[in-house]
Amino acid sequence: MALHETKDVRAQDADTDVFTSTLSGQILPKYKIPEDHSPTEVVYELLRNELLLDGNAAQNLATFCTTWSDEGVHRLMNVCLDKNMIDKDEYPQTAEIESRCVNILADLWNAPAGTTAAGCSTTGSSEAAMLGGLALKWRWRARRRAEGLPTDRPNLVCGPVQICWEKFARYFDVELRQVPIEAGATGLQAHQLAQYVDENTIGVVAILGVTYTCDYEPVAEIAAELDRIQAEHGWDVPIHVDGASGGFVAPFLHPDVVWDFRLERVASVNTSGHKYGLAPLGVGWIVWRTADLLPADLVFNVDYLGGDMPTFALNFSRPGGEIIAQYYLFLRLGRAGYRRVQEACAETAQYLARQIADMGPFTLLYDGQGALPAVSYKLTDPDATPFNLYDLSDRLRMRGWQVPSYPLPADRDDTVIQRVLVRHGVTRDQMALLATDLRAAVEHLTATPPPAPAAAPRSGFHH
Ligand SMILES: *Cc1c(COP(=O)(O)O)cnc(C)c1O
Repeated sequence: MALHETKDVRAQDADTDVFTSTLSGQILPKYKIPEDHSPTEVVYELLRNELLLDGNAAQNLATFCTTWSDEGVHRLMNVCLDKNMIDKDEYPQTAEIESRCVNILADLWNAPAGTTAAGCSTTGSSEAAMLGGLALKWRWRARRRAEGLPTDRPNLVCGPVQICWEKFARYFDVELRQVPIEAGATGLQAHQLAQYVDENTIGVVAILGVTYTCDYEPVAEIAAELDRIQAEHGWDVPIHVDGASGGFVAPFLHPDVVWDFRLERVASVNTSGHKYGLAPLGVGWIVWRTADLLPADLVFNVDYLGGDMPTFALNFSRPGGEIIAQYYLFLRLGRAGYRRVQEACAETAQYLARQIADMGPFTLLYDGQGALPAVSYKLTDPDATPFNLYDLSDRLRMRGWQVPSYPLPADRDDTVIQRVLVRHGVTRDQMALLATDLRAAVEHLTATPPPAPAAAPRSGFHH
């Protein structure tokens, strides 16, 4: 009897103790769905263990995306797990909250008073960029048609853009005119435009927080130059601001930088809610200055809210939770909260920049002041340094830090740089530890130089 009981207990344990379970004694199926089911706890623990092989998000200094979330976000995400934001009939309140977020962003970006904002949520800035680009293309084409002019060669002018704009250009058949970076510059400069803009230019993309260097492009100067070009040639070229990161930083840290709808030429702005907007992954935003800038035939109107709910998206079904979490964060933090968060990040980035500047071999490209809370730097004299930045990235990775090295885009592609993003949740102490590890890595690589310089850039650069 006693024996029998023990056996029962053991059999039961085998079902619930993760590491003596049947599934745990096997290599997990990789190509076929298993024949039978397994207990929740066992599968959960086994997968959680496997995921430990992923990089540690808190040490990922490569990504712009938030790795911070609070308890309220987790709880609301749980509540919203079954909400599909596209079903505006079933989830009218989620749709209403999306609309509030659009209006809040339009206000944050100084849209003209007394107008109703047009805009929507997206899966991220990439989808928002597609929508912004499409609106530019549609409006240019309508204008050209009305004038009886050809519409077969649209182009989009930009500086060192994120890959999403290259995708937009290819997917939607627009020539991408990428202006090379000049020596010493961190992005597109106004004086370069005249050479690239013409009657077929559907718009200019200005980036608020260049992916490579983290600096802002001078949107006001770009707008002034486009005013001048219009006066000279008659071409009225709108600006789309890619504020993937900066759209949530500049309004709080740099209210005097004029980059948004205060400039009449800025037709639309996108941002990633899941970057400095602090929402969980999977939400972006696009807002047009006024509703008329969004061509009616791109928009599908949904009227069940009593008002007018324009929807314009590439995707259909999408989770509603990120949108609710975004609104939660607006309410939870308020302007003052966002300002404190971004200020703390900027101060931490500037602290790290000072440490890096003091180490000796590095020259800062961007010191964390005036644009994104981030630092970018290069080797002052790569030829006289016994290691390169790829070696340094590898060395830091041994301590778990993910710090990407990559070449700048053309024409500065002979310059390799490293970039650290400071996001909410990255502490001063952590950056002090990183600085200590950087110093140790430099010392080690100087004392024991790698045999030959690592040749090609590694993958792992997160745009
Ligand atoms: C991150 C980023 C994007 C892409 O945004 P996702 O939200 O990842 O789709 C586009 N442009 C810039 C400048 C970015 O930093």
